Amino acid sequence: MKTQAAIVHNRNEAFSIEQVDLRDPLETEVRVKIEACGICRSDLSALEGKETIQFPAVLGHEACGRVEAVGSAVSTVREGDAVILSWTPACGQCPSCLRGNVQLCLEINMTTGGRGPLSQHGQGIDRFMGLGAFCEHIVVPEAMAVPINSSIPPQHACLIGCAVSTGFGAAVNSAKIYPGETVVVLGCGGVGLSAIQGARVAGASTIIAVDPIAQRRAAAGALGASDVLGPDNLVAEIRRLTSGGADCAIECVGSVATMEQCFEMIRPGGRAVVVGLPGYADRLAIPALGLLAEKTITGSIYGSCQPSTDFQKILSLGETGQFNFEPLVDKVRPFREINQGFDDMRKGSLTRVVLAF
Ligand SMILES: [Zn+2]
Ligand SMILES: [Zn+2]
Repeated sequence: MKTQAAIVHNRNEAFSIEQVDLRDPLETEVRVKIEACGICRSDLSALEGKETIQFPAVLGHEACGRVEAVGSAVSTVREGDAVILSWTPACGQCPSCLRGNVQLCLEINMTTGGRGPLSQHGQGIDRFMGLGAFCEHIVVPEAMAVPINSSIPPQHACLIGCAVSTGFGAAVNSAKIYPGETVVVLGCGGVGLSAIQGARVAGASTIIAVDPIAQRRAAAGALGASDVLGPDNLVAEIRRLTSGGADCAIECVGSVATMEQCFEMIRPGGRAVVVGLPGYADRLAIPALGLLAEKTITGSIYGSCQPSTDFQKILSLGETGQFNFEPLVDKVRPFREINQGFDDMRKGSLTRVVLAF
């Protein structure tokens, strides 16, 4: 079929909405009509060359929509189902999937190199993270289209495809926060604000939110942070507020400095969890002696989520008011305003811009 995609032909060029060819789903694939797609910082990183991608490319990996067509062997979704797109193919065959860690699936790819269902004038088009959801329709393996049943509107539900699962899951699944614990969240964008809500749902007694921007700190306070701080004199402030160190610190910034601070600000036996995306060449320097104080530092990808069950769980929390999507979205724009949406982000939008189709 023919459909409309926002193509980037070269790095740092504007998106151009053009007609493209989308082949029919194979046996185990589905075609989804996209309804909403968030603009994630990783999309911007791909444009800036910090992520592997081949041009021409279609970005977009935080989306939801409705299934329009299914291959003959598809069993988990049906035509008409509402779905959130997942960027783990959850192949079911690799060692990670066999252990149940589908977020670590070895088939996850930042780039598909133009080998896929999308083309233009006979030339394959790369789809970022195996999705390429800045497009009216996409074709993906059935495991990447996770069926949902919810009254949460598409401009909110789409965020579960990346930011919300990443942040919420980091607190609940990766950090495994227990009731009564003290938690620090560094960085209060869409991911950090989701981590704060995850910590609250998990029963943290103290949630300290850290961000240099006052409006983000205000959003963090409204979502359940008990204390909000700027970055000044941070480690000492955290130690003071938590009587010696936090049980858990979650880094949602992506900078080496804040990752190292996380390790410093946790108590003996505490956990530092890194969620922010570092650069390829970044290296951490942490005091090795902290390891003998049984401190741990670990990473979290996709919030250690099982999309097939966790997406619906988060939607249910949204329906009962335990998870609030509203502050995570700065602006909803029509798909054709994708370039303005990226400009919003470059100018430092407080949270997310979502494109509605
Ligand atoms: Zn993302
Ligand atoms: Zn796998």
